[in-house]
Amino acid sequence: MRLVFVCQECGVHYLPPEDLRYGDGSAASALWCSPCQGRMAELGIREPAFAAAFALRTARAAAEAAAETEGARRTRARRPSRAGSGPGTRTRLR
Ligand SMILES: [Zn+2]
Repeated sequence: MRLVFVCQECGVHYLPPEDLRYGDGSAASALWCSPCQGRMAELGIREPAFAAAFALRTARAAAEAAAETEGARRTRARRPSRAGSGPGTRTRLR
């Protein structure tokens, strides 16, 4: 489940990696997009833990609500068309 955060510094919506780790192994912030996070690091400002925890919780709740809505929609609309198109069909064809 990907979480969308709103940067508390510049207001941009950003999508950090799922485990909040960037490719180079550095930690992503739940408060700031990566450019702002870099700028904060340069200024020696660390993200307040309580604010980060709150942002994470808010993003998770939003993602869960979205997933629930999406799941309900999918169950209703796609279930009949899925019959016969699973992995079992592919195995039989080979
Ligand atoms: Zn930013």
